[in-house]
Amino acid sequence: MVRPKKHLGQHFLTDQNIARKIVDTLSGSFPNVLEIGPGTGVLTSFLLPKYGEGLSLIEIDEESTEYLKEHFPELSERIFLADFLKTDLNQFGSDNLAIIGNFPYNISSQIFFQILDHRNIVREVVCMIQKEVAERIATPPGSKTYGILSVLLQAWYDISYCFTVGENVFNPPPKVKSAVIKLQRNNTTNLGCNPELFHQIVKQAFNQRRKTLRNGLRSRLHTDIITHEIFNKRAEQLHVKDFVFITQLIENQNTSTVS
Ligand code: SAH
Repeated sequence: MVRPKKHLGQHFLTDQNIARKIVDTLSGSFPNVLEIGPGTGVLTSFLLPKYGEGLSLIEIDEESTEYLKEHFPELSERIFLADFLKTDLNQFGSDNLAIIGNFPYNISSQIFFQILDHRNIVREVVCMIQKEVAERIATPPGSKTYGILSVLLQAWYDISYCFTVGENVFNPPPKVKSAVIKLQRNNTTNLGCNPELFHQIVKQAFNQRRKTLRNGLRSRLHTDIITHEIFNKRAEQLHVKDFVFITQLIENQNTSTVS
């Protein structure tokens, strides 16, 4: 067995029915499926018969990869001992990659940022994460928990909250409840504004989330746009399209006028 290591976020799922249900949540017959953090292979054993040669695993813990190579010898060429956050996903497929995993909860936000960086190849993600984070990502504007990842992920993916999972089906049990969510790439290829600037503006707006956008984004706003009524709002009230609109305003403002 693999000894669970806290610093790697290792909580091994022990319930086979839940493992099957997670794997069945993936919607298609994807040619390439990448599992993040397979651990002892509880999801892998349901993925392998479905996806066969299209399946690859990335796991940071060598004790796990050794264990997996013994138990899934047919997969040994596609079990990668690596840090997902530092991996270039282009090697796993050109535009049709699905990602699945019971993510290490301590780095789930960084995993989503890495997925966003590869949004042109990642078509679908099915993952188990901390319930609170799942709710935050799936929530529409207006809620106190709506935040940076909600906006950035909702810009590129349709998100569904699939089901909740209690603490007691893990070894060791985590301190929090878990949930499975599904992200499906939407049809957006071009937001209508510079995506890097959009990203920076979303971050800046939420870092000052109690302020109106006029105050939170003041350093970027010139006199010709600063009085626009959209800046009376707060970050948590805005849909993706409103952030796109603000980014366009900022891109097109008259930079010779300083507020
Ligand atoms: N899928 C298994 C294990 C989930 S625990 C199960 O459901 O039981 C999370 C797993 O992610 C652990 O095996 C941990 O070693 C692995 N992990 C943690 N950080 C990682 C990283 N940066 N890249 C790849 N795997 C990572």
